Amino acid sequence: MRHKLELLRDEAAAAFAAARSEADLQQVKGRYLGPRGLVTGLLKHLRDLPAEELPLVGRLANEVKLFLEGQVIAQRQRLKDERLSARMSQQLDLTLPGRRPWLGHQHPIAIVQQEIESIFIGLGFEIVEGPEVELDYYNFEALNMPADHPARDMQDTFYLPGGFVLRTHTSAVQVRVMEKRQPPVRIIAPGRVYRRDHDLTHTPMFHQVEGLLVDRGIRFSHLKGTLEAFAHRMFGPDTPVRFRPSFFPYTEPSAEVDIGCVMCGGRGCRVCSHSGWLEILGAGMVDPAVYEFVNYDSEEFTGFAFGMGIERIAMLRFGINDLRLFFENDLRFLRQF
Ligand SMILES: [Zn+2]
Repeated sequence: MRHKLELLRDEAAAAFAAARSEADLQQVKGRYLGPRGLVTGLLKHLRDLPAEELPLVGRLANEVKLFLEGQVIAQRQRLKDERLSARMSQQLDLTLPGRRPWLGHQHPIAIVQQEIESIFIGLGFEIVEGPEVELDYYNFEALNMPADHPARDMQDTFYLPGGFVLRTHTSAVQVRVMEKRQPPVRIIAPGRVYRRDHDLTHTPMFHQVEGLLVDRGIRFSHLKGTLEAFAHRMFGPDTPVRFRPSFFPYTEPSAEVDIGCVMCGGRGCRVCSHSGWLEILGAGMVDPAVYEFVNYDSEEFTGFAFGMGIERIAMLRFGINDLRLFFENDLRFLRQF
């Protein structure tokens, strides 16, 4: 019996050591130590032994059982170590450079919008926002564009029930701000606007920044100084700026503001239609008729307003020639910023 036990112990130990996988190990364990295993079977015969042999053989049997159970644990650890070192040597080269995670970044429109905001914050303006679904009243009527005004034709938009429209310009925010506050008012209002346009140079949704300053003694020279300072910060200190007379229903007098062409330096090219100048925004002194809608005294207060398209500024700033690129979400384009 003792001899049998020792033979079985050595045989089992060799089988455990030869196991190549966890499944092997489980199988070997079952064969020797399971309910119907060889060791278990032998232990059942202990009771047939003569009484004087029982203590000695019983102790040995117990030792063999404990030894083999310890082998299971030891061999399982060995298999684990082998798997790990196999993985390390085959797949893990610690000297390889790491894979960089893909980092997102801001859209060029957002980059330019923030630049515009920071320039005007530096000039003492405050940023406000207004609703994109706007009442006809704020978008047109209170800006001196009654229902039959021809200027509405150029700003056809999307109409909703209940007198709502998708705002065609950020100018609508002007009236909302002036309704709530007395001068001095010094704000810019960036955001999305909508028009019924879709071609090479127009998209149904685009971005504008509106500016409004109302206080005592504000003159056209303040408007010129402010917008020149903006153009020089945005496009460089040597950028020429010019004002051309224009018309908007809510400013009087009104002007379009041009900068010297950033593509050709003013010599004339295809982008500037060989004029040497590029229009960047519209502006003017707030029409006294607008003050009547918000109960400002037009004898006491004067002010100026301006509005610019952010896409337009971004195209000139980055030399982009197709407006639609901004909204196609092509990563080859977007990764360049
Ligand atoms: Zn040019």
